Amino acid sequence: MVSQFTATDPDIKVLLEISEELFDIGGATALLHWDQETYMPPKGVLHRSRQLSTLSAIYHARLIDQKTGEAIKKLEGKNLNETDAALVREMKRAYDRATRLPESLVREMAKAQSVGLESWKEARNQNKFSVFKGSLQKIIELKIEETRLIGYKDSPYDCLLDEYEPSLTTAQIEPIFEYLKKEIVQILKKHKNKRTKEILRGKKYSKNSMIKITEAMLKRMGYDFEEGRQDLSAHPFTINFGNHDVRITNRYLKNDLGSSIFSAIHEGGHALYELGISENLGGSILAAGTSLGIHESQSRMWENMIGRSLPYWKFWAPLFKASPREIYDEVNKVSSGLIRVDADEITYNLHIAIRFEIEKDLIEEKIKVIDLPEIWKEKYQRYLGVTPPDDASGILQDIHWAQGSIGYFPTYTLGNLYAAQFWHEMKKDIKDLNKHIESGNFAPILNWLRQNIHQYGSIYQARDLVLKVSKNQLDPGYFVNYLKAKFC
Ligand code: MG
Repeated sequence: MVSQFTATDPDIKVLLEISEELFDIGGATALLHWDQETYMPPKGVLHRSRQLSTLSAIYHARLIDQKTGEAIKKLEGKNLNETDAALVREMKRAYDRATRLPESLVREMAKAQSVGLESWKEARNQNKFSVFKGSLQKIIELKIEETRLIGYKDSPYDCLLDEYEPSLTTAQIEPIFEYLKKEIVQILKKHKNKRTKEILRGKKYSKNSMIKITEAMLKRMGYDFEEGRQDLSAHPFTINFGNHDVRITNRYLKNDLGSSIFSAIHEGGHALYELGISENLGGSILAAGTSLGIHESQSRMWENMIGRSLPYWKFWAPLFKASPREIYDEVNKVSSGLIRVDADEITYNLHIAIRFEIEKDLIEEKIKVIDLPEIWKEKYQRYLGVTPPDDASGILQDIHWAQGSIGYFPTYTLGNLYAAQFWHEMKKDIKDLNKHIESGNFAPILNWLRQNIHQYGSIYQARDLVLKVSKNQLDPGYFVNYLKAKFC
């Protein structure tokens, strides 16, 4: 159980009040973003950017209020319950980051990101990295400046990683990627694809039937449409407006129902995490997933361990008048390709390893932006055995760097690793797990996730949550064993 905040402590009360206001401003910001990605008419964008920047200034001012700093100082070193201590820890993290960066740098970064996005789009149109090079250079310089101001122990990359995956360091992640690269090459050598039929692919399904099928699957998972929605956007995402309103979006490609199905399951997994957070944390800074990696573990577990399993398709295949095995083979095809978002469960992590190595070397100033297309090609050839014919299918494929998200990529692989480790524990606890999945009964899974992970929100950092659930530290061996069992 999650203990309540000690609202009788005057300093906890101060932090809670500020934290709740930030949560509300965050919710309003989220609503504007959601609207922009779903229903806003195109010309709304001008005022929308102004509204967002006004809200972000209010958020920042509220966070760095002197009262926040004073309350944190008084509470540090006090003997607090688990929930209060986590509130202080998370408010301090946010406060320190916000106060160490001068407003001029924050503004410059915001500008560099919007210029970066525009020039990235233009570079993709022209299929030329040179168009994007200058603005990426600027973003990297500002990020390096950020690491100097915020501070770090070993690598400046630690500081950027900390924003998305607090409690993990570069030194911990590097050997994990080395291990994965070695193991994945072996798994790829042993794996053979089956010949497959096109059941989910092809122009057989109307947009309306795609919406109906994905909604039916989401409801089965336990996603309650009284607390959520599935709307249309260019790229699928999940967004949280509070404990009882977490929405997802999807897209419906004419000839690929599978893409909509796995996006729905993936985003549904993210949404169930946020919806399962304890009421006791409601409206505070702790009422959010604890890290991007843990968040991704929730989406990947539903998407891959459950949604790409044979038992899952034993339940759903009759709807498609196909055999479960046929759909299972279709949705588990493995191939070493150029594009990250099209990658299978095995090779996906090689795409991430490449991005991790490149962004780390950029921040540690070991490589130069101008050399990126060559470095990219060389690594793709070495790890995946393919060479991009141009920049659009190579270095320009991801939006992340253009919007200043550096230190984000590793959380995708961490999500796979955490998911496998949690899955291992869940299988020990739930008797006849496959039988439940085959009969479309996902309640035992959702209950287990709520009990062991969701309810805690951000009370535990990823490292401690993994230790609590698995009695073991993060160990990539669980994931490698999972891949071997499934694909070898
Ligand atoms: Mg995700």
